Formats: sequence, C-alpha cells, structure tokens
Amino acid sequence: MKTDTPRPIHLKDYRPTDYLIDEVHLDVKLVPQQTRVKSVLAIRPNPAVSDPASSLTLDGEQMELTGLALDGQPLARGDYTVDDKSLTIDNVPSGPFTLEIETTCDPDANTSLSGLYRSSGNYCTQCEAEGFRRITYYLDRPDVLARFTTRIEARRSDAPVLLSNGNLVASGPVEGTERHFAIWEDPFPKPSYLFALVGGDLADVDDVFTTASGREVTLRIYVEHGKEDRCDYAMDALKRSMRWDEEVFGREYDLDIFMIVAVSDFNMGAMENKGLNIFNDKYILARPDTATDADYSNIEGIIAHEYFHNWTGNRITCRDWFQLCLKEGLTVFRDQEFSSDMRSRPVKRIGDVKLLRSHQFPEDGGPLSHPVRPNAYIEINNFYTATVYEKGAEVVRMMQTLIGPEAFRKAMDLYFERHDGEAATVEDFVTCMEDASGRSLDQFMLWYTQAGTPELAVAGKFRRSERVFELTVTQMTPPSGGQRKKQPLHIPLEIGLIDADGEALPLKLDGHGALERPVLEITEEEQTFHFTDVPDKPVPSLNRGFSCPVKLTSNLSDDDLLFLMSRDQDPFNRWEACQTYAGKKLLQCVEDASKNQTLRTDEQLAEALDACLADTALEPAFVALMLNLPSENDLAARIGTNVDPWAIHTARSNLMAYLAGVLHDRLIGLYDRLTDNDPYSPAAADAGRRALRNTVLDLLSRIDGPDVASRQFKNASNMTDQMGALNVLGTIDAPERTDALNAFYDANKADHLLVDKWLALNAMAPFPDKIAEIRALTDHAAFSLKTPNKVRALVGTFSIANPVCFNHEDGSGYRFLADTVLALDSLNPQVAARLSSAFKNWRMMEPGRSALAKAEIERIKSRKGLSRDTLEIVTKTLQ
Ligand SMILES: [Zn+2]
Repeated sequence: MKTDTPRPIHLKDYRPTDYLIDEVHLDVKLVPQQTRVKSVLAIRPNPAVSDPASSLTLDGEQMELTGLALDGQPLARGDYTVDDKSLTIDNVPSGPFTLEIETTCDPDANTSLSGLYRSSGNYCTQCEAEGFRRITYYLDRPDVLARFTTRIEARRSDAPVLLSNGNLVASGPVEGTERHFAIWEDPFPKPSYLFALVGGDLADVDDVFTTASGREVTLRIYVEHGKEDRCDYAMDALKRSMRWDEEVFGREYDLDIFMIVAVSDFNMGAMENKGLNIFNDKYILARPDTATDADYSNIEGIIAHEYFHNWTGNRITCRDWFQLCLKEGLTVFRDQEFSSDMRSRPVKRIGDVKLLRSHQFPEDGGPLSHPVRPNAYIEINNFYTATVYEKGAEVVRMMQTLIGPEAFRKAMDLYFERHDGEAATVEDFVTCMEDASGRSLDQFMLWYTQAGTPELAVAGKFRRSERVFELTVTQMTPPSGGQRKKQPLHIPLEIGLIDADGEALPLKLDGHGALERPVLEITEEEQTFHFTDVPDKPVPSLNRGFSCPVKLTSNLSDDDLLFLMSRDQDPFNRWEACQTYAGKKLLQCVEDASKNQTLRTDEQLAEALDACLADTALEPAFVALMLNLPSENDLAARIGTNVDPWAIHTARSNLMAYLAGVLHDRLIGLYDRLTDNDPYSPAAADAGRRALRNTVLDLLSRIDGPDVASRQFKNASNMTDQMGALNVLGTIDAPERTDALNAFYDANKADHLLVDKWLALNAMAPFPDKIAEIRALTDHAAFSLKTPNKVRALVGTFSIANPVCFNHEDGSGYRFLADTVLALDSLNPQVAARLSSAFKNWRMMEPGRSALAKAEIERIKSRKGLSRDTLEIVTKTLQ
C-alpha cells in the first residue's frame, strides 16, 4: 500500500519519450487467475531527443514479472529494477533493440475493470487511460504509436471467441490440447490505450457495409447468447454513422472488419479501441419492449461517437492526456451533428444545452472546475468530465460559428491531411482552423485554458429619433480554482432583431453595413453595437441556438420573454425564453415557500403554454420540452447560495399542479389524441409524440392522481410508455406506486438492464421519510457493488436526480453516498471517485446541510489507503 501523497502531473512538464516502440508482438495465454502475457517490443531511441537516457523505464502495475530478455539475452537481476509502478532497465543499447517481457496477471481478481478483467465469464480489456500497464510493461502514454500483432490462446470451451484489434490473420487449434488460438494484426500504428482484447462465449450478429470507394467491410456485433434480437438498431445506427462520416466529413473506414462487443460490467459508456469497440451493453441492446426512446437515441449517439473516433482519436490521437478534449470535444461535436441530422436539430440542441447546464455549468462553477484543457491532474481518470466532453464540443462549435461552415470543413480536411498517423495537440487543431480561414484564433484559445462559465450581460436600448438600436454587451468570467483574474474571451453571439409583427429585421451595423452572418463577435470586456435603420422598437433574440456556452442576463422584460416564447423564429430561443420566464417565476415561488407564504401562480405562463399546446405547427417533441419547467437542480444552481431543496421542490410541484389545473381540458384532449395503437417505431417523430404524451401524463397526474398512469402502465405495448407511466407513479406516494414497481420487477427480474431501470426508479422517489428503503436496496439480490451500472442506477441516480432525499436535513442522504463511496473505493476507484463528485454542490446548501455534507466528505478523505482517484476529488471538493 502506498502512503505517500500523490503528486500532480503538469502539462508544462511534457517531454517526448527517449525511446519509441515501433512494433509490438503480444502473445496472451488466457487463464482465469493466471494469464500469461509475452510481449516482444521493437524499440529505438527517439530521433527527436538529442541525448536519450541510458536507462529505459516502462510503466507497469499489478502484475508479476516472470521473464525479461534484451536482444535475446536474458537479463540478470542487477540489470533492471522493478517496483509497484514501473520496470527500469539500465544501460540499454544506443541503437534499435528488442525487448522480451513475460508477465502474469489475474483477470478474475480485477474488480477495478481497468486492464484485463473477467466479467460474466468473458475476458475483456479497458486500457484508456492507463490500463495497458496492467497487461504488460510498456511506455503507456498516447504519444508512443506502434503496430500491434496479437496472438491469443485459450481453452476453446472457455472462450470460443478470441478478438483483438485489426484484421484476423490466422486461427486454429493448438495441436494436442483443448486450446485454440487467433492472431490479429492491426496495420495502423496506435497508442496502447486503444489496444483491446476479448475472449469469451459470445453470439454474433453480422452485416456488411460498402464504403464510398467500394470496399466491403464486415460489421459484427458480439452479445450474450439469446440477445441477438436486440442488436438491429445498433447495427442500423452503425451503418448510418459510417455513411454520414463519408458524406459530411469525407472519412471512410479503413479495416476489413469493424467489431463491437457488448459487456455488462464496464466503467464507461463505450470505448473506441481500433476496430474493436467495447460497449456497456445498455448502449447496444434494444427491443421495443426492453428499451425506451431515450435508450434508442443514446444507442444511436454513442455508436456514432465511438465510430467517429476512428478518425478523431485513433487515426489522429492525442499527444498527452491534457489534450483529451482534442479527441473528446471534437468527437462529441461530431456525434451531436450526426444526431441533429438524423433527428430534429432544435430538439437535439435543446437536449444538449440542458445537459451542459445541468452537468457542466455546476462543475465549472464549483470546486471541481477546470479548463477544457486542464494544466494539471493527479489521476487522469477524473478528467473524463462534462467540461472536457461537453464544453469541449461547444468550443469546436464556436469555432465553426466564427469561421463559417465552409472554412470549418476545409479546416477539418486540413487537420486530417496534416496529422493523420500523429499524436496531435489542441494547438495543431486550432492552427488548421486559422490556416483554412485566414483568421487569428489567438484570443479564442483562452476557451481551452481558462475555466469557469462566462457571464454575459446584454442591454438593449432603442433610440427612436435616430432609428438606432443599441446593444451593449459586457463579459465577465468569475474566478475559479487557481485562476483569479480572467481575460476577456472571443465569443460568437448569434442574434436576431424581431419587430412587433414577429418579422425579422435586417441586421445593419453602424460603420459595417449588413452583417453577412447574424453573429456579433465579442472580444472586449464591454462593447456596444449600433444597429441602424431600425424602424420601430425591436425585441432582440440573443444567443440564438446557444451559439456560446455562457450565462446570459439581459434587460428583456417579462413581456419581451412572453413575446419571444411565441414569436421567435429561432426555436431554441423560444424554448430559452420559456425557461428564463418560468425560472424567474419559480424563483419567486421558492422565496414564498421558504417564508411559508402562499405560493404565487402565473396566468401569463399558463396562457403562453396553452398557446404552445394549441399550435399544431410545432413538433410534439419541442412542445414537450416547452412544458418541462426548469428542474430542481437548475433552480438550485440559479439560486446559488443558502439553497433549501425542500422549498424548491415545493415551489416547483405547486406551479406544475397549477398549470395542470388551468390546462386540464386541453391536456386530456391531447393525451387521448396522442394515443395510438400503431406498432412501435424508434423514429424521432414517433418518439416525440410519446415524449409529449408522457409529459402530459405527468402534468395530469398532479391533478388527477395515479389512475391514468396506472392504466398506461398496464396497457403499455412498449417500454417507453411503460417507463413514462412508472416515472409518474414513482413520484406519487400511493399504493399504485408500490403495485406498479413490484409488478415491473417481477416481470423483468431476469433482465439486468430492466432491473437497473427499476433500481433507478426506486432511487428517484422524492419521499424524505423513505431514504432507508432506498438504502436497503443495496442488500437486494438485484444490486451488486461490483457492477458499475447497478451502482450508477441506484446510488448515482439517488445523489443526482433525487435532490430532496440526497439533501435531507438530517444528513442521511449524504451518509448513504459516503458509505457507498468508502465501500466501493477499494473495489473500483474510478467509479467511486465519480460517485463522490456528487458532493460538489455542498457549499451551495443552507448552513445546516452544508455542514453535514462537509463532515461526510471529510470522513471519506480521512480513510486510510483511499485511492488516488477518490482522494483527488474529495480534496478538491473541500478546497
Ligand atoms: Zn469519446
């Protein structure tokens, strides 16, 4: 056990390795508790380093070294040293040499699910970020690119399927034994984090894709036996992703086969290993009676994301882990664009912004705040964050907005042309944007290095006599961890001016003439823009499409917001106006609730929503979003200090019930009209109709009680409608809730993904007197601390999506989370650390709650032998 304090790693300390590895030959004999790995490495001094060290240090942990030879000569004890993190070989040759390393590891004992592990009888690997060093000693960093040949051997009865990256070049029995082998060759040099190996008894579903240049690629999805009929949608999404990347980015697939393996024990969503993606099976398996519309859309997005990594991440990888956003931000941007093309663009954009606001904004405003490209880390696994992914995608989107879509596509082509086969940096990427557009992005680079959510204040003023509309924009980024003084950012602010009839006014800037694109570039702390020839007082529509990820305040009146809600041509901003208006009213209600006063209602909001419900030109999915008032977590974030979650819950429930009462007749009519008996289709339009119907059901139940939801639960012919009913019933403290949850469990207890849904439903129950019941589920047969999906479903959902219980005034919610983190930390540090980040908002709470939360975080921190992962998160959370 290590007792020393972990030291941070800094971006400024980056230097290339003294040695490079060109070729790797792995020979892996799979045995449950003692897998033997023989690795032959072709190594040479790095020509870019003028004076390489005479010794070579390789990363490695949690294995046993059983053999070591250099250029065929076994090394003596005195020629090398091994500790619990590395292997150092003294006096290596000054020219190219070959190193042979033999090690053993124990996949059965590996509960951290990093490196090589065995789950449900199948061998599986996860190497990003630093798991390969648990398979063999290696230069385990992304800027060492090598060609891998992998031979795998196992008993045929244990693992009839043997997979690795690249193309299969040989396979067959090992004569005289019960074992067999397979040899895989990956022609593309890659960093070790993209290595993958799978061995197991799996079924497969096959298809073929013909690339734009006419090459045939085999597509194969491996799943548990009996789940073959749940792969159709994933396969379809894969083929659409491949076509889309050819059409939109000109990128073709490059191997003969593309494989996906679905596993049930996985730390992440999915992993883009070259040619052999490994997925959390919840993002592969779908059938109308087992998966919801949200599951289908997640599957589509994640299949696309991992596939798109083949170019943005694999062919061009990251120089070091500080550049993680280079592959993740860019690839999230690409999968968001793909889903926007497959589905409704405005609905997709609103969903992405909701996610950004609910996850990334609190992260950026709290103790875990860090720049899109962090400059230091203790444990890189803690930086797979909403900031790197989601804000990282926003930064790419802003560059596209600034330079325009044509220059952006040229820049992407240039990036692929210049850096294919390389380990690149954020600077390399941004330079392509500059070279393709001829514009400087020097100031824009601050988005990568400066943390915190910028705040924009916008004030409009109409000068009738001069027919001038004046827009003054000020920007400020609040200080955050280690960054006190923030520089002004380069911000693209998309806008429109709307006249009283709802018509768009031309945008003519004083001194510039008509704007080519409706984007203002904010570069200073304060700037004023003068729009000329404005005939009458306009209403400005600000930050259209959420062109920049900022918190925006303005001098728009309630009337302006209600006007934008019904008249803005930009659908995103219609929704945004609704959120702003409803949020304002809700905050007043929260104040009422905390003073025990009668809660306010708002007729104008009800009228505006009524008009929205009556507008048949609007997509149902969009109307559903309009009806979703800001969440309890959103409101807590807006309040920011001295938060009382119970007052928020009361205020929001009350306003929803009020709206349901006013809109009741229209809601009933709509609910019936949206009911159909057609066979289920996951298409966006059908999903939108179901989303609206389930939103309407939620509102209706606030007046009418559980009857309609119970009926929907019993009659549902697909999982979306069934879960829609359960989500509603789950929040009503009535026998119907218990009956439905029991019935659901009994019907689905054999299906682990549906059991996870059941755990999450239980975890969301907003009844503070029932926390003990939620906690007791950790002893239920359906729960296991060793399965990340179960931990996330129960404890993750509880601490993120059940604010009234998690923040119970007696501290029992905090205690539940802390106990789980402590129990999990030694089994799976990555998941424990992620779970503990749910404490990040503790300072925002009223003094009683924040003291209780702080005590629990301190209790975690004081545990002896706490993992580096969790220690980093809780230490930062307390700072
Ligand atoms: Zn990714």
